[in-house]
Amino acid sequence: MILNTPLLIDGAWRAGTHAQRATVRDPATGAALGELTLASEQDMALALEAAQRGFEIWRKTSAYERSKVLGRAADLLRERAETIAQLITKEQGKPLAEARVEAGGAGDHVDWYAEEGRRAYGRVIPPRQRGARQIVLREPVGPVAAFSPWNFPVSQLVRKIAGALAAGCSIIAKGPEETPSSCIEMCRAFQDAGVPAGVLNLLFGVPAEVSSFLIRSEVIRKVSFTGSVPVGRSLGALAAQHLKRCTLELGGHAPFIVCDDADIEAAAALGASLKFRNAGQVCASPTRFFVQSSAYDAFVSAFASQAARLVVGAGAAAETQMGPLAHARRVDAMAGFVADARECGATVQVGGERVAGTDGFFFQPTVLVDVPDHARVMRDEPFGPIATVLRFDTLDEVIARANALPYGLAAFAFTRSIATATRLADDLECGMVSINHFGLAAPETPFGGWKDSGYGSEGGSEGLDAYLQPKFVSQIGI
Ligand code: NAD
Repeated sequence: MILNTPLLIDGAWRAGTHAQRATVRDPATGAALGELTLASEQDMALALEAAQRGFEIWRKTSAYERSKVLGRAADLLRERAETIAQLITKEQGKPLAEARVEAGGAGDHVDWYAEEGRRAYGRVIPPRQRGARQIVLREPVGPVAAFSPWNFPVSQLVRKIAGALAAGCSIIAKGPEETPSSCIEMCRAFQDAGVPAGVLNLLFGVPAEVSSFLIRSEVIRKVSFTGSVPVGRSLGALAAQHLKRCTLELGGHAPFIVCDDADIEAAAALGASLKFRNAGQVCASPTRFFVQSSAYDAFVSAFASQAARLVVGAGAAAETQMGPLAHARRVDAMAGFVADARECGATVQVGGERVAGTDGFFFQPTVLVDVPDHARVMRDEPFGPIATVLRFDTLDEVIARANALPYGLAAFAFTRSIATATRLADDLECGMVSINHFGLAAPETPFGGWKDSGYGSEGGSEGLDAYLQPKFVSQIGI
């Protein structure tokens, strides 16, 4: 039922009228869960008209009122977190414990933006002439087109919705066709909290058709996309052609640097939990584990035994520590990375194979060692449960290797030396550095990449800025 009427347009849930439908599957079994109706051009045109009307209403609603509505949405999301978590696991596959963290955190993101929206202060600039006032107002940029992926169906989308709404923008969100139900339930919470019709619209469709239609429209003033580098590049180009502001949160290939003065056991335990979380389908997932030579053997042994012990299974099973990949094409991609690495001379220390005897999209937690730099897994983002472990000798060397790829999203490091930690924080070319712990993705901190990993940030005050534009007002009494 939920898949029949998945589009939220102008405050009403309706079926998509596109001739095509998308099949939603349970990644733990490969079985079809249902058919998702998709948006046609006619549906998208209605959404654009609704977003324009919604913007006129919402921009004139005070920041104080907007904050109250968002606060109610945050409370509803917390009340409904268990239902939403179950839907995430059913369609995306991650273990229920991880889905609960994702769904449970959605309210916190909304609360943060609800508060931050009330503090979207402008400024007063001292004038050159007595009696004059020079004021900078910060105004909502306009209707937003947002595109979010399937790996975190709730937490990727909630940041876009809450940021846009807190700033006074309306939004048309295209959710992920693979994992629609949790997005639908999340949007229902905003609607039930009192977000007026047209302010929040949700679409599913043929991705390239939706982005092309929405970004070209004169109604849309801002584009926000999370996904792969190639798609980000093409949406960024389209946004530039039509002079739309754009935030891109793209892929990564994060270095995880373990210096020989670090707590090696702790580094291996955290490294494994970060690597195999959501079966590695995380843009900030560590992928290249650089370990200083004298600590290398100890780290490989501890890390490999953590990976080998992981219980892989359906996300809904209580004992599962790593679920399936989100769809069949990711399993093929993992098999391709491992085959190529083997041909290049790498050794498979743990895993390396599809899980046999199931129609689900499972791939074993995989640890590769002795991987040469020309192997594809060293250049392309694996976006799955594959770790490469590499040796280094000096800080200069590891910083150069960590920075050698065009990606620049996240980096992790383990060391007991403040001097080393400071040097790494200064010299790693990426948007986020986390040292001796996992400290990324809180609502109040910026999340975003450098270089090919995109531009702009979500989260933190930067996340609100992305939906605001300055207006300078100069006035004098006559
Ligand atoms: P993909 O490149 O086909 O799609 C990535 C995402 O972009 C999907 O959500 C998809 O629906 C969307 N998309 C694709 N074409 C689009 C278009 N023309 N307009 C609008 N949206 C479009 O890859 P995939 O097989 O779905 O995912 C694998 C790759 O995607 C990974 O290698 C990873 O790099 C990337 N990815 C990144 C993130 C992230 O958090 N940054 C999330 C999911 C996927």
